[in-house]
Amino acid sequence: MSDQEKLPLSLFGLSAEQITDALHLNKKFQGKQIFEWLVKGALSFEEMTNLSKSLREDLSAKMPSTASSKVIETQVDDHATKLAVELYDGNVIECVLLTDKNDRKTACLSSQVGCAMGCKFCRTATMGMIRNLSAEEIIEQYVHLTKLGPITHIVFMGMGEPMNNMEKVLRAIHYFHAENTYNISLRRITISTCGIVPGINKLAETGLPIKLAISLVSADNPTRSHVMPVNDAYGLDKLRRALLHYQNKGGKRFTLEYCMLSGVNVDEKAANKLASFTQNLDAVVNLIPWNPAAELPWTTPTTQEMNKFCAFLDDFNVKYTRRYTKGRDINGACGQLATKSISDYELYNDVNDDTE
Ligand code: SF4
Repeated sequence: MSDQEKLPLSLFGLSAEQITDALHLNKKFQGKQIFEWLVKGALSFEEMTNLSKSLREDLSAKMPSTASSKVIETQVDDHATKLAVELYDGNVIECVLLTDKNDRKTACLSSQVGCAMGCKFCRTATMGMIRNLSAEEIIEQYVHLTKLGPITHIVFMGMGEPMNNMEKVLRAIHYFHAENTYNISLRRITISTCGIVPGINKLAETGLPIKLAISLVSADNPTRSHVMPVNDAYGLDKLRRALLHYQNKGGKRFTLEYCMLSGVNVDEKAANKLASFTQNLDAVVNLIPWNPAAELPWTTPTTQEMNKFCAFLDDFNVKYTRRYTKGRDINGACGQLATKSISDYELYNDVNDDTE
């Protein structure tokens, strides 16, 4: 086997010691130097000017890029920049940097290529499940986004169900959180799930103060099962128990994403059920009008319908926040990145702000 075949696809996510071993370096400090350059976002050895010229040339010849992926398209809007990232095997994923009114910069990352969960309001679902991302591929999205500016928050709300790739997602989170990398507070990291109960329980058991967002869409079992097949496996009772468990384990307030679909989940009965579901939960409902997609069969509620639904929620004392801008949200769940236009995005919701 040649040296080249033995090299890893990516150096991101490796420790200094692992880099020393992976690149067969003679001196440990070289691994540390390379590690530090990677944290600064170096995608080639040529950028690593404190390495000797001969070492840079040698390593570049063996490994032209330190990353396994590359950005192939960038779409820019006022508040968001979306990157299409090509992986080593030709698959393409997307990630977004969102900027809010307080100038917080949130990286919205993907965890899978496609998704198996089949939520019927989600564009990624139409791709089916292709594969999980490695931790390196998750970290590389962040690295590509850092080229656009410093990042303050992370949400796993891109393509895929993060809890179906939990080990890699947690590995990437530990990397983002490490003091010698980006030192991002765990409270500034949100995992969004369609409601994978074992994943919520596992996250609760870790004791990590990572934030949680659940794509609820409906608090009525038949309606939710119709829109989200995951509900057949983990119905609302099981989901609610898992959320209470998460809460009791010291989890912080979580978000219930509620994608509003006209004629489906915006009447008084739906509001009443939502009120029952949220009882004793330290949760805020994030109301997001459906963002139209030609290939999907839903309709955005009218402003009047939305106002009425909010009035019902007020009557039932449900805590909620509301987006007014149609067509510019992440759409309240993971998976909304398989879209065609940057105009489908806006900053992630205020309820996931942290106070730090
Ligand atoms: S909303 Fe999330 S979990 Fe559901 S299909 Fe889309 S990517 Fe998968």
